[in-house]
Amino acid sequence: MSRTVYVNGAYVPEHEAKVSVFDRGFLMADGVYEVTSVVDGKLIDFAGHAKRLARSLGELEMDNPLSEAELLEIHRELVTRNDVSEGLVYLQITRGAADRDFAYPEVARPTVVLFTQHKTLVDTAAAERGISVISIPDERWGRRDIKTVQLLYPSMGKMMAKAAGADDAWMIEDGLVTEGTSNNAHIVKDGRIVTRHLSNEILHGITRAAVLRFAREAQMEVEERAFTLDEAQAADEAFVTSASTFVTPVVRIDDAPVGAGTPGPVARRLREIYIEEMRRAAI
Ligand code: PMP
Repeated sequence: MSRTVYVNGAYVPEHEAKVSVFDRGFLMADGVYEVTSVVDGKLIDFAGHAKRLARSLGELEMDNPLSEAELLEIHRELVTRNDVSEGLVYLQITRGAADRDFAYPEVARPTVVLFTQHKTLVDTAAAERGISVISIPDERWGRRDIKTVQLLYPSMGKMMAKAAGADDAWMIEDGLVTEGTSNNAHIVKDGRIVTRHLSNEILHGITRAAVLRFAREAQMEVEERAFTLDEAQAADEAFVTSASTFVTPVVRIDDAPVGAGTPGPVARRLREIYIEEMRRAAI
């Protein structure tokens, strides 16, 4: 069955959804995106995603064409029209169509596209068994705090992981773990959660922020600092966070099992708390 997607103010069947070949998102990856998960037909942490979207647009001097209320309305309408009980809403805003030029166009109308995907998020094999990651050099650009659609290196990373028989990759820069290809990376040692501090080097994960807040509320110790690959391999536990994976345990990094090589109690507990709290607050 064809999905209904949103393109520049209109709800249309997916095969009728079109954007210009001159769109700067297509030509120059001049666009930003957000992915908001849906559980029980409701949006998880919509406000967090709306806030980061505004920040990404601001960093690129792009106009925000929609108010938060309008954005919420579109998200909800798509969830309803496509009957999504569990899955994702993908949102992309580009600078719009203009004659090809490196300089930003003086006037361009942003392109806005949203679509949904059905996806199992809560009861997943990855959460049950944990995932394996390989380490790869972080060869992305330096403004990873902006959620742009230039995702080629993360795609290459996923393919490197696949070729190595692993589930994902953690990226390393100057000997330190930055993040996963599409998630934030965390380790646990002696009961303390260690996760890289916020900077331009990583995406400021919305799930990361919520999970750290819940961890602190549950009296867990959290240390925000960079950590090495050796430290990660010697940790008691490791896990990743993202809107689509929530909290997912990492049980192997390259050749080394993490802890017992099975999901540990901290990651399990944080996943439980996150899902419970977010379900309660979903809109
Ligand atoms: N880092 C990167 C590089 C990502 O692509 C993502 C997911 N888009 C994340 C972290 C996690 O961010 P969030 O929790 O907001 O999904």
